[in-house]
Amino acid sequence: MHTKIDYKTLPDLVLKNQGEWIQFFKKNRKKIEASDLKIHAIHQRISDKTNCLECGNCCRSLGPRITDKDVERLAKALRMKAVDFIANYLKVDEDEDMVFKSMPCPFLGTDNYCAVYENRPKACREYPHTDRKKFYQIYNLSIQNASTCPIVYEVLEEIKKI
Ligand code: SF4
Ligand code: SF4
Repeated sequence: MHTKIDYKTLPDLVLKNQGEWIQFFKKNRKKIEASDLKIHAIHQRISDKTNCLECGNCCRSLGPRITDKDVERLAKALRMKAVDFIANYLKVDEDEDMVFKSMPCPFLGTDNYCAVYENRPKACREYPHTDRKKFYQIYNLSIQNASTCPIVYEVLEEIKKI
């Protein structure tokens, strides 16, 4: 079963729900702090029923931070020199982070497949972070991410039931 939420509707849905999420966090902070295992189980359940290939919104709209290790791995996979990989694909953003020169990501196919999936950046592997340790530390960041990612939206809705 796939998630029924269309990512295009997310910004409006988040606007509608964010006040409630913020209030829930304020009232239940201790409970959320102690609920990583439950939250990770929610993440797993929602991720399992979500088909990222029908979405691809993160790869179209968010620029992952690219580390030196990512450059090394990607350049090797593409049989390029690291300097050439950087020159072709990367720029330094206003926070001094290396990111893709342009988004959508240059490795995203029209079918939403990632051309470098096995070697994708660490930030791509970890997105959308709802299975992170100490999830409460990124609860507020997740409210922002919910405008992009249906998984995050659904996880925040489910957390209200813990
Ligand atoms: S490298 Fe792959 S997973 Fe990462 S943004 Fe690009 S297409 Fe998406
Ligand atoms: S991680 Fe979220 S935003 Fe990215 S493709 Fe999957 S459902 Fe869409």
